[in-house]
Amino acid sequence: MSAQQTTLETTSLKRDYYHLIINGEKVESSNNNVFETVNPATGQIIARVAKASQEDAERAVTAAREAFDHGKWRKYPINRRAQTMNKIASIMRSRFNEIVELEILDTGKSLHAAQGQVTQAIEDFEFYAGAIVGHRGSVNNVPGQFHNYTEKEAVGVCAQIIPWNYPLMMAAWKIAPAIAVGCSVVVKPASLTPLTAIILGEICLEAGVPAGVVNIIPGSGSEVGNYLVEHPKVDKVAFTGSTPIGKDIMGKASQTLKRVTLELGGKSPNLVFEDADVDAAVDGSLFGIFYNTGQSCEARSRLYVHEDIYDEFVEKFVEKTKKLQLGDPFDKSTHVGSIIDQGQLDVIDGYVKSAIEDGADILTGGKPAQIEGFEGGFWYEPTVIANVNHDMTVVKEEIFGPVVVIMKFKDEKEAIRLANDTEFGLGSAVWSKDGARATRVANLIQAGIVMVNCPFSAFPGTPFGGYKQSGFGRELCIETLDLYTETKSILSYYGSRPLNPFGL
Ligand code: NAP
Ligand code: MG
Repeated sequence: MSAQQTTLETTSLKRDYYHLIINGEKVESSNNNVFETVNPATGQIIARVAKASQEDAERAVTAAREAFDHGKWRKYPINRRAQTMNKIASIMRSRFNEIVELEILDTGKSLHAAQGQVTQAIEDFEFYAGAIVGHRGSVNNVPGQFHNYTEKEAVGVCAQIIPWNYPLMMAAWKIAPAIAVGCSVVVKPASLTPLTAIILGEICLEAGVPAGVVNIIPGSGSEVGNYLVEHPKVDKVAFTGSTPIGKDIMGKASQTLKRVTLELGGKSPNLVFEDADVDAAVDGSLFGIFYNTGQSCEARSRLYVHEDIYDEFVEKFVEKTKKLQLGDPFDKSTHVGSIIDQGQLDVIDGYVKSAIEDGADILTGGKPAQIEGFEGGFWYEPTVIANVNHDMTVVKEEIFGPVVVIMKFKDEKEAIRLANDTEFGLGSAVWSKDGARATRVANLIQAGIVMVNCPFSAFPGTPFGGYKQSGFGRELCIETLDLYTETKSILSYYGSRPLNPFGL
């Protein structure tokens, strides 16, 4: 483990100062406020960032409104928008290492995680460049001499509020489908991780997206985010973040009946049956919780193992957990990066302490980690907790860190009952070599995503979103395009005799 964090290359994307992007320009905030963004692996300040005020949010909404109501982007032929989207992807690809570096610096995530996420962000633009070409309305059956067809029309100006755990990927999930259909967007990145969303905004401009279509305004969620949510000229809010803020947003957006999509928290179950390939299930479950340092909304944080294989599974799982490498996020052999900040570290530690107080057993981990050379950063040991039950806070609430609880079950019925005993419904996983059982269980789990013998939750094209209090709406897929459009029904009469329905 090196004491000095290594870098991939020196790049112009890494700067001391980052601007807001409003109406096609890099601008200062109206009151010249700035904030600092920190590398959580080291605790060192990376850069200063212009901090948007409500006045800046107003400017951004005005620009987005103007671009939508009178601009050319929405009126371009679809192929032209698709070409621009592909150009965004190709610029991102040409600057892949620089973007990866910036994402690692701003988040403390591991190299392999950042590389995967930047790749996916690029592929999102390519996916929607293709998908938009086939996105269309329908022709519907109506009585003779009538004709009905529908058009998919862009919903308008979209406020897009994103979290810190996947800063670039979440920005891509939001921006790509919205601009593909012709919307204009005002993106509010998380205050902890503003950098790669700003870079994506700059790349959109470089690729030829007209002024005002993509605006990026880092700033406080409670001020700027809230302002966008309440703004009467914003047509839709797409939010990814915590369930309490999601509920608040839904309430406020109702005042102007904005379209709302919410991707919220989770506490996803992971079911390992007695007929599973145990080694594959161990490896997949390990990735399912410790990927991205457990800071994933679909982290498989409740692990249920059939009693017949429980001892074998737990022994192997704990042994491999102990082998996970923490440290220099730029080191290829690092599996687990840092926690996003001290506040989140305290939250995680608080949950683990509550589990101990409730009588649970810590099988490994259980405290902040000390990493040589990264003493100023925020690190937590990958933690496995057993001897828990569904009354415990650590089993009920989302922790959003590298902490998993393991429980036993005796049969399929009990496994399904336990899996569904949660207010959330985002991810879930099933490990079984019996295809009929896997299908049966997948059908009965109340969650938007079921991973069957699979460690990965999504690719561009697969729907991502939740049931229950994990939110609603689906991202990353064709259906997302419908959520950024209104359906207009055009009904015409083409009979030769005029109609006189009142008979007057
Ligand atoms: P958060 O506190 O809800 O913040 C998310 C975003 O909302 C940030 O940009 C934040 O701005 C902004 N915000 C805060 N208060 C606001 C308000 N009153 N009005 C409008 N915007 C506001 O969540 P987080 O802590 O960043 O992210 C972690 C959470 O996100 C977890 O619960 C996780 O499960 C969830 N998540 C869900 C998904 C999914 O797809 N379902 C994906 C990733 C994360 P500031 O940064 O300035 O506070
Ligand atoms: Mg940061």
